[in-house]
Amino acid sequence: MYPTFPTPPVINLCKCMTNIVDSYERKEIMKTNDTMWKDKGIWLKGNTHTHTTNSDGKFTTGEIAAEYESHGYDFVFLTDHEKRTVPAKSIRKPLMIPAEEIGFSFKGYAYHFVCLGLKKEWARGSCRSPAQVLARARREGVFIVHAHPYWCGTPSDKCVYPGGLACPGMEVYNTVCDRLIAKGYSNVHWDDLLDAGQHVLGFAADDTHNAAHIAGGWIMVKARNRTPAAIMAAIRSGRFYSSQGPAFKAIAVRGREIKVACLPVMRINFITNRYRGCSLSAGIDNLTIAAWNAPQGISYVRIELVSATGKRAWSNPIYF
Ligand SMILES: [Zn+2]
Ligand SMILES: [Zn+2]
Repeated sequence: MYPTFPTPPVINLCKCMTNIVDSYERKEIMKTNDTMWKDKGIWLKGNTHTHTTNSDGKFTTGEIAAEYESHGYDFVFLTDHEKRTVPAKSIRKPLMIPAEEIGFSFKGYAYHFVCLGLKKEWARGSCRSPAQVLARARREGVFIVHAHPYWCGTPSDKCVYPGGLACPGMEVYNTVCDRLIAKGYSNVHWDDLLDAGQHVLGFAADDTHNAAHIAGGWIMVKARNRTPAAIMAAIRSGRFYSSQGPAFKAIAVRGREIKVACLPVMRINFITNRYRGCSLSAGIDNLTIAAWNAPQGISYVRIELVSATGKRAWSNPIYF
């Protein structure tokens, strides 16, 4: 039995959307993170998943810093397996932020979690279930990103834990998983969780192990300043988007209308529950604006930009 598909939604393309956020009352757009587009702060480019010679990476922290600085990165989280790597003080740029990746098997499925903002190392074996990870993270103020569930082969219903808990973040794209076995995109896992009512932020990250994995996917964070604390605050509040190249300029929401402005791309996708949503395609990179009226009955919308070369950018979800 096929679902009855709704009438295609109306796409309103405006000629003048150069400052779309200004045209809205600030209180009307507070339902999402879209005030970040005009709030004070600086945009910082960063990688949230990086390995060094302290676990199974090929680069030292100094070499990682040089590689990412050459690609214009502002910050790099060091996430060695079961190790909290602290970089040499002599490294000035980019900001190198100690973090950690933990992993284990639980009830027949593999789980990897990127732990951002931890102040002390989580020893191997100290967490034996996803629920224990989330409980410890809550106690210690650590932000957990569910790493590469598609690569792990962990189905999305196994990404929700007892009590209805899910990680606050999930990797929608992981460069090394894509480069090695073409399982880098976990967008279906992300949508399954969002469709189930979870609030999950999406991250593109390299999971860098060697030179082939540098600068494939990153996050653009709107931070108050160039410090680890400000970057973590921006991540926790969803003030970022993910990208492989395309760039958002603004997203604004008034009522059920969503407006997007971006640098030129070929497609702008409004992705929402199940078979609903909308995809606007131009055939070449000449779309810079789009608007969509989200229908009644949907619970979230996230926006994807796609360039003619297949590079993507992902907004975080807007909830209704
Ligand atoms: Zn991993
Ligand atoms: Zn990793």
